[in-house]
Amino acid sequence: MLQTRSRFSRPKKGPGLICRNGPEGASHKLNLVPFSAFRSRYSLALALLLSTTAWHIGGGTSHAAEGWVDFREAGAFRCWADFPLDGLDGMFVHLNQLQADLVRTLGIRPAGEPIELYLLRDYWSYRKYLSRHLPQIPYRRALYIKKNGRGRVFAYRSRQFEIDVRHECTHALLHAALPMVPLWLDEGLAEYFEVAPQKRAFDNPHLKSLRWSLCLAVVPQLQKLEKKSDLSEMGRTEYRDAWAWVHFMIHGPTEAHRELVRFLIDIQGNTPPGLLSERLDRRLPDVRGAFTAHFKTWKR
Ligand SMILES: [Zn+2]
Repeated sequence: MLQTRSRFSRPKKGPGLICRNGPEGASHKLNLVPFSAFRSRYSLALALLLSTTAWHIGGGTSHAAEGWVDFREAGAFRCWADFPLDGLDGMFVHLNQLQADLVRTLGIRPAGEPIELYLLRDYWSYRKYLSRHLPQIPYRRALYIKKNGRGRVFAYRSRQFEIDVRHECTHALLHAALPMVPLWLDEGLAEYFEVAPQKRAFDNPHLKSLRWSLCLAVVPQLQKLEKKSDLSEMGRTEYRDAWAWVHFMIHGPTEAHRELVRFLIDIQGNTPPGLLSERLDRRLPDVRGAFTAHFKTWKR
């Protein structure tokens, strides 16, 4: 019996307009590690019985049997693909940089374990692979799975390929460094880091939508996000709002960034971190006002 926790699961963008819950346009993250005492505060457990053979992938001779035709190492990632990886140099540079960016921006330690990355050449190869090896897991356009300390990312070459890979690899790097990550923060960070590095600060697609919301005096409430514990509770708005709070803490007031770093240090040290909203309230006199001011004045 394995445990999957839906708080570590996410729907994701679909083709065209964002359609996070559609089976054809979603990516998915499962973290199959045991609960710790304080992890369970943030999560709901869903027992899922998986066949043992489903997890006999990625090891030793099975790689040859799977027909992988290319392999590359990039930082913490060991990547197998069923197509030549020529032409993806830029993506691997970004993956290398992603680890450094997380360490520098969040103050977390580098991933303490290798992360396996499996890339399929097209939709049908991906579907075939999943149906063979992970038949119990609902289809998503990309997957991050962790079991027994092994983090694995699966994706195929779609129009959103590199975004999907960076998103899932952000989850993988976070969970390779931290014992847990609250659902909203996990997704907010992945949304932030999924875009190419040069676009993260000013060109994330969420920014325009958020500004419209602020023009209508609708300020995302962090406390509401902190109550989300299941995939089904996270829709387009919640992903945008989670991204916004991450953006605020990374690019906004110094004290907000310091609190984020301290929050993650507590998690890294297995110290129950409490709620980040309460910690921000204690550190900043008017968090909502500072949040609104940050985005209303944010420009190149
Ligand atoms: Zn995600």
